[in-house]
Amino acid sequence: MSAHADLVRSQGKTLVFVPTMGFLHEGHISLMEIGLAHGNHLVVSIFVNPAQFGPTEDLDAYPRNMERDLALCQKAGAAAVYTPDSSKMYGPGFETRVIQEALPNHLCGLSRPRLFSGVTTVVTKLFNTVKPHVAVFGEKDFQQLAIIRRMTLDLDFDIKIVSGPTVREQDGLAKSSRNSYLSPEQRRNATALYRCLEETRNKAASGQVDAQRLLQEAKEKIQSVPEAAIDYISIVDPDTLEDVARVDKPSLMAMAVFVGKTRLIDNMLLYPPG
Ligand code: AMP
Repeated sequence: MSAHADLVRSQGKTLVFVPTMGFLHEGHISLMEIGLAHGNHLVVSIFVNPAQFGPTEDLDAYPRNMERDLALCQKAGAAAVYTPDSSKMYGPGFETRVIQEALPNHLCGLSRPRLFSGVTTVVTKLFNTVKPHVAVFGEKDFQQLAIIRRMTLDLDFDIKIVSGPTVREQDGLAKSSRNSYLSPEQRRNATALYRCLEETRNKAASGQVDAQRLLQEAKEKIQSVPEAAIDYISIVDPDTLEDVARVDKPSLMAMAVFVGKTRLIDNMLLYPPG
């Protein structure tokens, strides 16, 4: 991969990179399309990164379909797909992690303590090997995007970070590789996340800006959904990810909810009236 990147760069091409964990869906494909608007040589990586899973999480169960993924990458215009294996990525004696101080201490980082150091570590390694000019990340994983932007600045990566909006199913459920875990009934119930975000956005836009009250109503709504268990629902400053008391400027509502055993995340920006 590194030699390929050197060659592409020596040819004067603009290398764009979309890192993924595979089991690709339209959300990933949309990031590839966005990437190709920013460069002319698209590299996609497919790597289920063990360093970002906790001991009780779904590393082994994570859905995989390499053959289908490769066909989708080719169709989307990828020039190369990088599929490292974990024994090479984390060879004997590997012991280094990239740790960020503040942004991981919110939202998903609280319930998944190894998630973001695993992400920053693997993305650092991928950036060093793929050597992209541009890298594309989804707003679906808003906290991850914020952390990658911060890391890119802090560690002087000469890489432009571009984001893509969340691609949704017709009924609003954010597309996710993990949606494949849901039974048909859970799949129907899972639309509650999006409906709750939308309802809250509408309330904020019409002047109900007290964050505690918005959160209380949102929690009641999600608690009434069969098999749903809230991990967190928060309204935060989109830059610092700190909780806000009032939606008097654009604020991020973010949630993680278990539907059965499947942990789903989603988020939406809330805007005050006007
Ligand atoms: P993953 O394979 O889940 O690690 O995701 C790889 C990239 O795709 C990340 O930058 C995600 O934020 C992004 N992504 C995942 N789901 C969506 C979606 N529904 N819409 C847009 N981007 C997404």
